[in-house]
Amino acid sequence: MRRCDFTRAEFLAKVCLNLREKPKITRNPLEKPLMNDIRPIPGSSVATPALVDPFGRQISYLRVSVTDRCDFRCVYCMSEHMTFLPKKDLLSLEELDRLCCAFVAKGVRRLRITGGEPLVRKNILWLFRQLGRHLEAGSLDELTLTTNGSQLTKYAADLKACGVQRINVSLDTLDERRFRAITRWGDFKTVMAGLEAAERAGLAIKINAVALKGVNEDEIEDLLTFAHGRGYDLTLIETMPLGDIDGDRTEQYLPLSVVRARLLDRFTLEDIPYKTGGPARYVRVKETGGRLGFITPMTHNFCEACNRVRLTCTGTLFMCLGQEDAADLRAPLRGSDDDRALEAAIDAAIARKPKGHDFIIDRRTRRPAVQRHMSMTGG
Ligand code: SAM
Ligand code: SF4
Repeated sequence: MRRCDFTRAEFLAKVCLNLREKPKITRNPLEKPLMNDIRPIPGSSVATPALVDPFGRQISYLRVSVTDRCDFRCVYCMSEHMTFLPKKDLLSLEELDRLCCAFVAKGVRRLRITGGEPLVRKNILWLFRQLGRHLEAGSLDELTLTTNGSQLTKYAADLKACGVQRINVSLDTLDERRFRAITRWGDFKTVMAGLEAAERAGLAIKINAVALKGVNEDEIEDLLTFAHGRGYDLTLIETMPLGDIDGDRTEQYLPLSVVRARLLDRFTLEDIPYKTGGPARYVRVKETGGRLGFITPMTHNFCEACNRVRLTCTGTLFMCLGQEDAADLRAPLRGSDDDRALEAAIDAAIARKPKGHDFIIDRRTRRPAVQRHMSMTGG
């Protein structure tokens, strides 16, 4: 018996989900899984010892970057010639599943799969199928995805079948040439086709757009009417100082306070209490009836209500997007077939979650706040 088969089976049976019958042993994730691997978990009721940080915030949301690689090279996210992690450093899909399981068993109720571009990871549907079982068992409220949309025509229907109900698709412009300039390698028509496939599959869609000075600031209204016209939410994001990029971030940074003030000339924005578990603050746009979110790490720090931690594809847990401190979960994961060491490492990490970040973008602070790119920690 392969070591990981044993680990996985024992783990599921003993720790993760209170199974009444012995779980089917999972096979090599590079093989296509059989549908009957993805059975509902009978009668599971999960003991959920809450993860609470030193500031009393309950950690109920895990973002998992399943790869640092991407088929785009967005100007605010990556440099054009990135050095990616050697494949051997990545956790296997089975290991990622086991880690997610450990967090779910500790009370995490939301999982977001991100990257890099998560849908370029080979056999990624296997992981979605595995994680979807927690939805069926009632131990997870939501399984979501952040994607650049390039692979959605291929995957949208399968994602829905795995229990994904809504997705975030990054789209910063509606202009084909500008799209190419921002993403460097992306194809606008492919992403549009991906959005249509996601709609056909019945996925709720939120568009994420990074507001970029001198790049798409003249298009925010168009993005709003486009998104709301199709029944999508739209969230605007301030660019954050993460990782070295080829350009200068001070040139790109556009405070959303400015964008909001401009929108008020044409639209009525009504504050609403809508929450998705993420950091966005939402308004209802009276004229379109749609929802508009603002993610404002720079102008309005959202840390006081932070309920999230982020796991990289190498098993490093970042307790804050904007701080360097991290915990290695790969060593305890690989070091033992039972999860005691892993659970202790998770508890110790949460016990030192910092109060917040201190991002600055100004002309005196040209260095990124943290060296790693967003594609590594996961957006
Ligand atoms: N590749 C997927 C995508 O683009 O949606 C998922 C990963 S991407 C890192 C997640 C989100 O982070 C995207 O919406 C992207 O626009 C955003 N992002 C990347 N770098 C950023 C930065 N430096 N500041 C703000 N947002 C950033
Ligand atoms: Fe890739 Fe997403 Fe980063 Fe763009 S924002 S380079 S799509 S990871």
